[in-house]
Amino acid sequence: MNGDGHKQQKPLVISRVVVDRELCIGAAPCVTVAPGVFQLDEENKAYVVDPNGADAETILLAAQACPTQAIILYDEDGNQIYPEA
Ligand code: SF4
Repeated sequence: MNGDGHKQQKPLVISRVVVDRELCIGAAPCVTVAPGVFQLDEENKAYVVDPNGADAETILLAAQACPTQAIILYDEDGNQIYPEA
């Protein structure tokens, strides 16, 4: 365990970007924030077009912009970065 109440200071690395399609309501702020990463499909649900389509801070902003927290981010060790558990 490395989190005992302190903010992590190490640089943000996002290795995996997942959209939970059950949670996605097609509100699309993720597409607005990071169109190179997220797009809406014909069901009006977001999917990942390119997990490297924006820098990590932008992807985090996109995830935070999702009203249903349908965007899940993992670091290189496979730990969930967002939403915070
Ligand atoms: S912001 Fe969330 S709910 Fe809206 S399209 Fe993106 S993943 Fe779906």
